[in-house]
Amino acid sequence: MAKVENPTCSECAQLNCYRHDQQYPSFCATEVADPALVEETRQTYAGDELDGRLARAAAEVEGRYYGEISRCEEIVAFAHRIGARRIGIATCFGLIEETRLFVKILRLGGLEPVTVLCKVGSVDKASIGLPDELKIRPGAFEAACNPILQAKNLNAEKTDLNVIVGLCVGHDALFTRHSEAPVTTLITKDRLLGHNPAAALYTLHSYSKRIMDAERLRQL
Ligand code: SF4
Repeated sequence: MAKVENPTCSECAQLNCYRHDQQYPSFCATEVADPALVEETRQTYAGDELDGRLARAAAEVEGRYYGEISRCEEIVAFAHRIGARRIGIATCFGLIEETRLFVKILRLGGLEPVTVLCKVGSVDKASIGLPDELKIRPGAFEAACNPILQAKNLNAEKTDLNVIVGLCVGHDALFTRHSEAPVTTLITKDRLLGHNPAAALYTLHSYSKRIMDAERLRQL
């Protein structure tokens, strides 16, 4: 692994924090962590508040169904374990068909989906200061994504768990910031790679080689 100035976990070859079967590196985040903070987080996960219930439900779904069920099913299993009934869906316009299918799955799982599309509120991109040439169709009315309104609508619906279906990079950040319910993701949007952003990493030395051009990356 190439040397970097301030190594962190991404530069760790041992990953010893997982199974204690190696050595900790000199820069280890576990070694430098405040023991009181480690204990505080442990107590949170072991406790009865929402954070503890989320942590244990996530670990239980992982352990019970490891590699056996899809993410769609994992979300149903997770919702059951945290006692969630009303499931908010913050969906992208471009993934509404996928959302319609997911909603069927949720209903079959005994859950109550509530969907809000990203274009809710129908606010024109021009009215938030976006130049016309940056519209997908310049000159036409084109609603901006409104992740804050998506979150506020789902907050008003008192959803127990919210699921992102294909929100854009950044819109997902805004949605998560404004959602009162915990947020998980079903689909991470990648328009180029069929919503599989990891494909760029798996093909970094072949089809996606262009990504490793530093000059180009710094100008993006
Ligand atoms: S916490 Fe320590 S052992 Fe774990 S990945 Fe980070 S540096 Fe490696």
